[in-house]
Amino acid sequence: MRRRIIVSFAAFTAAALAATASGYSIWRSLSEPPAEYKTLEVILNKLNDGNKLGKANLAFMITAGPAASELAWGRGLCRGNLETLYDQCVFFSLLNPFKTYKNGWAYSNGTILLPRSLFRKFNNNNPHLACIIAHELSHELRSHAFELNYYYNHNLKGLSEKDKEAASMKFQRQHELDADRDASIMVFRAGFKGRPCISAISEVFRLNGDGGNTEADSTHPGFNERMNAMKLNYIKLKKNPPSQVRSVKRVMYYSKPDNLLLFTHKKN
Ligand SMILES: [Zn+2]
Repeated sequence: MRRRIIVSFAAFTAAALAATASGYSIWRSLSEPPAEYKTLEVILNKLNDGNKLGKANLAFMITAGPAASELAWGRGLCRGNLETLYDQCVFFSLLNPFKTYKNGWAYSNGTILLPRSLFRKFNNNNPHLACIIAHELSHELRSHAFELNYYYNHNLKGLSEKDKEAASMKFQRQHELDADRDASIMVFRAGFKGRPCISAISEVFRLNGDGGNTEADSTHPGFNERMNAMKLNYIKLKKNPPSQVRSVKRVMYYSKPDNLLLFTHKKN
C-alpha cells in the first residue's frame, strides 16, 4: 500500500529532547510516543543496523488506515471509489489515530504511512512487522512511484489507454515482487531468523480474506504468485547469503503534533 502526504517539520526542532536507546541517540519531542511508534523505532533501528537505507531522510506516519475510509464512505461522509479508497475518502485513512480532530490536514510526499491496525493485526510480532516495513522501504528506496510514472509517460507513449493500463499494472506487479525480495534480504540482514516474510505476507492475504489469483487489472500479484516468489527468494538467500553492509547511524525525531517519526542521519 502506498500513500503520499505532506507534513510540516517545523515542530521537530522546537521541543526536542535527547535520549538514548539501542545505542542510538534518539531525539524526540517532550511527548512520549504511542506504543506503536516505540515498536516502529525498535524495528527501524534493527533494519538500519544491517542495511544501507540510502541518503534520504525517512519519514513514517501511523495513520487511521483504510478502515477509517470505509467507515466514512459507509456513512456518506465522502465520495469516492471504495475499491481503491481514493478521491475524497482517502482523507479519512490519513487521519491521526492518536488525536481527536478539530482541524484539517495537509498533504505532501515521501512519507511511509502505516495503518495503526497493522500493529494490532500482527500482535506486535516484530519480524513480521519488519517485513511489511522493509517492503514499503524498498518502494521508497527504489523510487517505484517515479519509475512507474516515467515508464507510463515514456515507454508506453503511443499505446492505447487500455494497453497502457495493462502494461502499467504488470509493471507495478513486478515492483511488488521486487519489494518482497528486498524485504526478505533486509530482514535477514537485520538479524531476524527464519523465513518471517513468508508468514507475514501470507498473514496479510488471510487478514484481507484474499486468496485470489494474479489478475491482469491488479497492481498486486495474487497469493500463489507472491508466496512462490518469496519461497524462491529464501532458497536463493540460503544458497547465497547477502554480504554484510556497513550501516550508517541515524537519529529519530518524533513529533506528536505532526504524528510523524523522522529517521534521519546522525548529526555530529
Ligand atoms: Zn508494495
